[in-house]
Amino acid sequence: MATIAFIGLGNMGQPMAKNQLSAGRTVRVFDLSAEAVKAMTDAGGQAAKSPAEAAEGADAVITMLPAGKHVKQVYIDGGVIDAVGKGAILIDCSTIDVLSARDVIADAGAKGVLMVDAPVSGGVAASEAGTLTFMVGGSDAAFAAARPFLGAMGKTIVHAGPAGNGQVAKVCNNMLLGISMIGTCETFALGEKLGIDPKVLFEISSKASGQCWSMTSYCPVPGIVATAPSNQDYKPGFSAAMMLKDLLLSQEAALTAGATTPMGRVATEIYEKFVESGNGGVDFSGVIREL
Ligand code: NAD
Repeated sequence: MATIAFIGLGNMGQPMAKNQLSAGRTVRVFDLSAEAVKAMTDAGGQAAKSPAEAAEGADAVITMLPAGKHVKQVYIDGGVIDAVGKGAILIDCSTIDVLSARDVIADAGAKGVLMVDAPVSGGVAASEAGTLTFMVGGSDAAFAAARPFLGAMGKTIVHAGPAGNGQVAKVCNNMLLGISMIGTCETFALGEKLGIDPKVLFEISSKASGQCWSMTSYCPVPGIVATAPSNQDYKPGFSAAMMLKDLLLSQEAALTAGATTPMGRVATEIYEKFVESGNGGVDFSGVIREL
């Protein structure tokens, strides 16, 4: 049975690593937090003293880390690329900037090691349920090698193109999500001021040309979509801080690519203000309170 090194055992990483254990794999773990490591060893994982020790001889390395600098720290400075054999597959599931993703994959490629960027859509609940969506960037061979390991953690696995394209898909999707959430909030706020019942507006708009996921699956107005965080006092779900992180990545990517994203820029500014006023831990649909 395959051996996996799993590095980054936070809110998302821990349930993902547990799903690898449930799939019958040997899982070696590393995290800077002793508490996170203990939770995994209690569940049947094996603690490693460093990322390189976890990776040595593993069939796959999976990482779920906060940002590009941590991914570089682990794979390059932490010696993971040097520690694995040529037959291993490296899978970074973190949401990071496109350039860092491409740099690390190029570094692995130069040493003859296959690697993909495979950021996810879906939060902690999907991570626990093993129903994440993976957007995967990398060569055909790397995608084929990563697929069986991703299958234990997710339901939908899409090959988005060459290295870095998983991050491209993620950042583009989440920029649109941020924009459409603000648009939905503005729409309901305007409707209310003009005197229409939000339930009636929803009934019409959710079937008309204005419909979007932010409205139909995640309505920011309480009492309309039962499962939406608006009905739980905007408990996340997907936090405003996470949305801001992804919007900032989208603006960084737009700058390097020379793309014009005025709506993305305004959405970033609105979430920046929302987070700065103490709402980082609130669900991103809670931005309706500001509008
Ligand atoms: P988290 O902060 O809960 O976990 C990150 C973990 O990485 C922590 O346990 C931390 O100790 C560890 N870590 C940091 N630097 C490390 C290093 N150098 N070596 C080893 N371990 C290190 O974050 P999270 O919510 O699990 O998110 C992880 C990634 O998933 C992020 O890139 C995030 O953007 C992305 N993501 C999160 C969600 C979500 O809903 N939480 C949804 C989609 C994508």
